[in-house]
Amino acid sequence: MKKCTKCNEIKSLNNFNKAETTKDRLTGHCKICLAISNKEWREKNKKKMQDYRQKYYAENKHYIDGRQKEYRSENLEVLKEKQRASYKLNPEEAKNRVKEYRFKKFGKQKAEKKRIREEKERSAMIRRCEREYHKRYLHPVKTNLRVRLNIALKLSGNIKDKSALSVIGCDINTLTSHIEKQFIKGMSWENNTINGWHIDHIIPLSSADTKEGIEFLFHYTNLQPLWAEENRLKRHKIPLVTNLYFKSVGYYSQKH
Ligand SMILES: [Zn+2]
Repeated sequence: MKKCTKCNEIKSLNNFNKAETTKDRLTGHCKICLAISNKEWREKNKKKMQDYRQKYYAENKHYIDGRQKEYRSENLEVLKEKQRASYKLNPEEAKNRVKEYRFKKFGKQKAEKKRIREEKERSAMIRRCEREYHKRYLHPVKTNLRVRLNIALKLSGNIKDKSALSVIGCDINTLTSHIEKQFIKGMSWENNTINGWHIDHIIPLSSADTKEGIEFLFHYTNLQPLWAEENRLKRHKIPLVTNLYFKSVGYYSQKH
């Protein structure tokens, strides 16, 4: 039996570590007291220890990594068994550990990839919507004008030899935005319908009787949106200013 010089308890000899320098070849403090003071020292010098470990690792990286790799490959089964045991002991914690590790390793990349994917999906959807909108509301404007141009030319005994857009004088986007700019309250492409609004020739088509005259009146600057009701009232009534306008722009139908 031996008395611990720290806690003063009398304990059997196997409670003391072996020592080289003491008389009885045993440490003065018992194992428990040593463990406690070791722990206290570690707590107090945490930062120092960490710095030391990091420095040591940095200086011996190659050697440590090699040794670890070697150890792992030699003890594959033992390590696996350890892993299995630790998983069984606390499955939730083990799962979280894996999750954390994956997030640390791939989290940022994954999040970035997800962001890019979502961005792409969003812009693809916007493009799809725009295409759909164009197909549904804007494209028919061109078709409608082309048909009307054909009819007008046919009625006057002419045939169409130019593309509708070259007669209109601009592309479909310019045309539709030109109309849009003249929208009045309540007008939208959704109500460009029989009972909604129509595309009207400001100077009526009925005032032209030559091919050139008809084509001239199909120029996009002569187009405006007009409520169906007003359009019906206006139909075939040539405003008084028309003739003056024709003169001012250098076109005059021989009819007048
Ligand atoms: Zn003790």
